[in-house]
Amino acid sequence: MNPDSYQDMLAVVQAFHDKHRFRETGGEELAYRVALMTEELGEISACVTKGKSKEHLAEECADLLILLLGTAIAADFDLRRAFWDKMKKIESRESRMINGRIRVSEFRDT
Ligand SMILES: [Mg+2]
Repeated sequence: MNPDSYQDMLAVVQAFHDKHRFRETGGEELAYRVALMTEELGEISACVTKGKSKEHLAEECADLLILLLGTAIAADFDLRRAFWDKMKKIESRESRMINGRIRVSEFRDT
């Protein structure tokens, strides 16, 4: 097990899904997964708004990452490839200051 390997991360999430039979028991239904990811995002939000520790924030972000990896399994797409394809796209985008904060976007509406 290599902790730096995307494939190993995916494999342990796949093993988790297999252990609990997610595919056969609704755990890979996409609408349900969206609800779970929303719940975790809420927990991340609570960490920030309630000033929780960095460790607590990291744990909640890990929950979301695990769900994202599991969603890639459930929907059968290559999240690693999607990450690099998207990074390539956004690296060429411009940034603007909007309401005092940096924003990187395509800015299609202006
Ligand atoms: Mg959580």
